[in-house]
Amino acid sequence: MKILLVEDAPDVIEAIQLGMMLRFREVEILSAGNGERALELVELELPDLVLLDIGLPGMDGYGVLREIRAFSDVPVIMLTAQDSTMNKIKGLELGADDYITKPFDHLELLARIRAVLRRLDMPGLMSRTPSFRSGELTVDFSAQEVFLSGVRLNLTPTEYKLLYHLVRNVGQTQTYGTLLARVWGREYINEVDYVRVYIRRLRSKLGDDSEQPRYIRTERGLGYRFIIPK
Ligand code: CA
Repeated sequence: MKILLVEDAPDVIEAIQLGMMLRFREVEILSAGNGERALELVELELPDLVLLDIGLPGMDGYGVLREIRAFSDVPVIMLTAQDSTMNKIKGLELGADDYITKPFDHLELLARIRAVLRRLDMPGLMSRTPSFRSGELTVDFSAQEVFLSGVRLNLTPTEYKLLYHLVRNVGQTQTYGTLLARVWGREYINEVDYVRVYIRRLRSKLGDDSEQPRYIRTERGLGYRFIIPK
């Protein structure tokens, strides 16, 4: 599991890194000292969770959160310095999943991380990553492999990433912009044809039919939705 820590204070970064490594060996911690770097890393590294400090040089944590939410639904825990109710509410309203007030110890932090992942139904990240199944389709997240009726499909990394984002948001329409930002990167946000072409390829590999979809439904003018089978 990959955690992105956005914090400008080296002592806090070090404390969290040490604490997490002692308790939780399978975690990889990336750090960013400012908002711009944080946005780059969310996009490039696709962390499983973001710990986001509010007090940052330049763009503050709220601004960073707003930008993250424009293209990603990665779980975010805000680190707040003051125990102020208003700060917490502002963070939650902007789309944070939880907050923790400094100073905290790493057991407290771990408990928060576990609680957020559990609530988002992603407990697999803390132990094993489960597979997703729908009809004949199985997506094995840990091996990053996709099977149709038990036969492994040969997907390109981009095709896999696209399917992964659709499946992880099953039942919810993913707009062209969201898919472009998540799969290709934010600078591709207007390249709607990329998504169309890749969806066509994905459908053909999944044996899916755009008119009678079993997996991926076109939401005309909006994007695509991985449908929940009846
Ligand atoms: Ca700070």
